[in-house]
Amino acid sequence: MQEAQYSGSLVLNSEKVWEDCLTNIKRNVSQMTFNTWFLPIKPIDINNSTLKVLLPSQFFWEWIDEHYNSLIHSTITSIIGPGANLTYVIAEEKEEKNEPVFIKQEKAVVKAIESEKPAFESFINPRYTFDNFIKGEGNQLARAAAGAIGDNPGGTSFNPLFVYGGVGLGKTHLVQAVGNKIVQKFPFKRAVYLSSDIFTIEFVEAIQSNKVNEFSNFYRSMDVLILDDIQFLIGKEKTQDLFFHIFNTLHQSGKQIILTSDKPPKDLKGMDDRLISRFQWGLSADIQPPDFETRIAILRRKADDFGLVFPTEIFEYIASHIISNIRELEGCLIKLLANASLNSKKLDFDLVKTTVKEIATSRQLNFTIENITSVVCKYLNIGEDKIRDKTRKKEVVLARQIAMHLSKELTRSSLKTIGLHFGGRDHSTVIHACSSIDSAIASDDSMKDLVKKIKDKIELDSV
Ligand code: ADP
Ligand code: MG
Repeated sequence: MQEAQYSGSLVLNSEKVWEDCLTNIKRNVSQMTFNTWFLPIKPIDINNSTLKVLLPSQFFWEWIDEHYNSLIHSTITSIIGPGANLTYVIAEEKEEKNEPVFIKQEKAVVKAIESEKPAFESFINPRYTFDNFIKGEGNQLARAAAGAIGDNPGGTSFNPLFVYGGVGLGKTHLVQAVGNKIVQKFPFKRAVYLSSDIFTIEFVEAIQSNKVNEFSNFYRSMDVLILDDIQFLIGKEKTQDLFFHIFNTLHQSGKQIILTSDKPPKDLKGMDDRLISRFQWGLSADIQPPDFETRIAILRRKADDFGLVFPTEIFEYIASHIISNIRELEGCLIKLLANASLNSKKLDFDLVKTTVKEIATSRQLNFTIENITSVVCKYLNIGEDKIRDKTRKKEVVLARQIAMHLSKELTRSSLKTIGLHFGGRDHSTVIHACSSIDSAIASDDSMKDLVKKIKDKIELDSV
């Protein structure tokens, strides 16, 4: 291995060290990437093996950490030596100009081996804060309750807080923002975030390794338990049972419980009734898709974080084409940036249009006739083989027609292909199915509701 350039030197000059790092980085990334993400980084000082740098925004750090962490790590190790470490501070513009930059946050980036380990990992992502969560009519109640809990975990009547709503609307962001606030404000409180499927996996592992008590005690020892996507516990009775006991312990001792779900408690079919009733003890708050103004505000804020400046028409174009998923709004900006920086394209209206189209296409590509059929069958409790054979039983015909209708709507398959997937039926059968469902939706609210619920489920499964 090549010896690190500066190993052993006593006094290091951060400018010189960073300049050498840049030379190395430049050899490994495109010019555009280099200019966009690395040139703006400024060295501040170097102490022992720790280089401190200044970054323009938190987002900036997250981007390079996600995409270039190993490059940075190997670079500073080769320049500074083993054990090299990088910390960063975020530059924030104050209102008056010419104010000195102030230090907002400091964080070990490439963790030094000697660095202190927390007693446990909270899995709360520092990227999700209240500050970068845009308020809108659709999330008002949930946001307000979350804020109150952040100030006083376990001490409000919002226990549990149950946040529900469709995909990509900010549930995970919001509940982790509470976590971050609590950890910051009450450093001694034990808070943990996890998704319910991880909870289930951990539980199964605990059973296999005979550590159920340890597992259960760990969660019972929390001051704040944030469990995301609780609908994943449906059909998992043992996990629900264990969670029931954890819930009781925490609730009785005034600890904060925060849950999210794709639907309100009462609609969680297959969830233990005792849990459903507990979910309703505190506050259930839904998150609705953002209205146009909120979508614009979100785009502006995200673009700002990226350091991008767009004319208003571009925001308006995106906000009127991507309407029901904030993750897609964000994805659109990232894709724009990637197209512009990686493929060196001009960031103009044409690129915006193409990018919006790509997002819509990739949304559709996620759905397959097989997935759709499987969700429909599961939802309506009908065997998948039945839907393909000749049965004319009423409920099977309905399931088949809904599956055809949704395949037509959500995939780009031809009528012929769709017919083939349903036991080799003719394309005219598919047309008939689509129009029957269309008219049923138009005349019957419960049918409309049913199809929408299944569609939501398909969308959720494909994320
Ligand atoms: P969900 O958990 O409801 O599926 P997420 O919380 O994962 O949605 O949100 C998807 C993306 O959209 C995340 O990157 C999140 O930061 C962003 N987002 C959602 N709601 C907002 C909001 N109100 N303001 C800013 N960003 C948001
Ligand atoms: Mg989520």
